[in-house]
Amino acid sequence: MTQKTALIWFRQDLRLKDNPALHYATTNGYAVIPVYILDDESAAQWKMGGASRWWLHQSLQSVNSDLREHMIFRAGKADDVLTELIKDTGADAVFWNRCYEPWRVKRDKDIKQSLKDDSIEVETFNGSLLWEPWEILKDDGTPYRVFTPYYRKGCLKKKEPRNPMPRPERITYADHGTDTGQLGDLELIPSIKWYEQMETFWTPGENGAHARLETFLEDGFKGYKEDRNRPDRENVSRISPHIHFGEISPHQVWETIRAYGEINSIPEKDVDCYCSELGWREFSYYLLYHFPHITWENFQPKFNDFPWNAQESQDLERWQKGQTGIPIVDAGMRQLWQTGWMHNRVRMIVGSLLVKNLLIHWHRGEEWFWDTLVDADLASNSASWQWVAGSGADAAPYFRIFNPLTQGEKFDPEGEYVREFVPELKNMPKQYIHKPWEAGPLILKEAGVELGKDYPEPIVDLKASRERALKAFETTKKAS
Ligand SMILES: Cc1cc2nc3c(=O)[nH]c(=O)nc-3n(C[C@H](O)[C@H](O)[C@H](O)COP(=O)(O)OP(=O)(O)OC[C@H]3O[C@@H](n4cnc5c(N)ncnc54)[C@H](O)[C@@H]3O)c2cc1C
Repeated sequence: MTQKTALIWFRQDLRLKDNPALHYATTNGYAVIPVYILDDESAAQWKMGGASRWWLHQSLQSVNSDLREHMIFRAGKADDVLTELIKDTGADAVFWNRCYEPWRVKRDKDIKQSLKDDSIEVETFNGSLLWEPWEILKDDGTPYRVFTPYYRKGCLKKKEPRNPMPRPERITYADHGTDTGQLGDLELIPSIKWYEQMETFWTPGENGAHARLETFLEDGFKGYKEDRNRPDRENVSRISPHIHFGEISPHQVWETIRAYGEINSIPEKDVDCYCSELGWREFSYYLLYHFPHITWENFQPKFNDFPWNAQESQDLERWQKGQTGIPIVDAGMRQLWQTGWMHNRVRMIVGSLLVKNLLIHWHRGEEWFWDTLVDADLASNSASWQWVAGSGADAAPYFRIFNPLTQGEKFDPEGEYVREFVPELKNMPKQYIHKPWEAGPLILKEAGVELGKDYPEPIVDLKASRERALKAFETTKKAS
């Protein structure tokens, strides 16, 4: 009897360990044909940004090497590509791990139906969420809108996340005679080399993901709960791009965190806090699944007539370039530009300045992050921007406006984070590092800073812009 063959359609699961679709194929005797399809057309508005494409190229290279260079690379509409590949390779089945972006849900449903209609075996699996969004509902059958009951009552009480699956002991590759194409054909790497610093910072791929987690466990896990807010410290895991591309699954991270915590007597509060951050990721996907419009429409419609500043372009550009004259904001925006990643606390600070002090629509922030983050993720990015703007589910109330100066002093007390990313301020004394505009001429001179020349004057008056934002917020009260 000839062996059955299955296309394994890789997507946000670029790994061999704990890959349910691959596991299913190998344990059920299929010869596999791994395939990656770059489907920009179906993604439309949400086609991957520049930083994500850079990451994806490296990650595909890594997984293809683990697959002994058997991956087929194609660009085009996924349904057309799959139809053609089934014809060319004679595959009997198609298996994939599910994604939850609205455009993918719709596309994949259609593909699944048409494969079934053509009598091709099709199976889909959960490889990226600890709890399926449709499994967690309130007692009245409706979805949760608030994180704590969703996570504590809905998820944790429902069931423990499943254990990760092992890497297949043996993968048999189908002998299909079809041209695999080249990774380079996907043209993911830009011609201008703006990504050189990112190369020194990250190791995309399954091995890089596990190494990153290992480093965090040893150097940053203990003390996570308190120090996860400190951008000047190494107490966060920076695993987000690896999780986003599925180089490591949340199940693997969850299990590793819990096991390491127990064996090494890591305080329970650090373990629980880390797991609940994974819970925030789940909640973002949950919201995206149940309320797919949150990628662009206000979750709370009372924000629909919010008086955003229409004259935004100059301010927006200064914000994007890290030239706002507010050190902690500029440090964050430059960290993002240089490394493709920004510390969570600083994401909240730069977001608050944009949508509240500058009254610029959260869409502009969402779009910029989408293009520049290596962990750009439709679920977490849209939910987080709506959270920052106050328009989201369980969001920070709009009137809670971060003061970037006091945030800087609290979370980067020595100014080390600012000094790293805003080197023109490196000689400023600690008292003024977060507010150079308050330093006298002598201090500025000694630090070698001329405001307006070496470093910008602040983009807004923080107090006046706060008042302006609160006034603008009044309109949402009338609308509710
Ligand atoms: C405006 C804004 C935009 C954001 N955009 C994204 C995005 O596009 N992609 C993205 O992955 N995260 C996003 N986040 C959430 C968060 O900032 C990052 O997940 C986190 O900084 C990643 O760093 P880490 O891996 O060191 O996190 P850790 O603190 O080590 O946390 C571990 C993991 O938990 C998850 N996580 C932690 N915090 C959050 C959170 N608030 N929301 C959702 N998941 C979380 C991530 O998967 C993270 O890797 C955004 C936050 C804000 C405020």
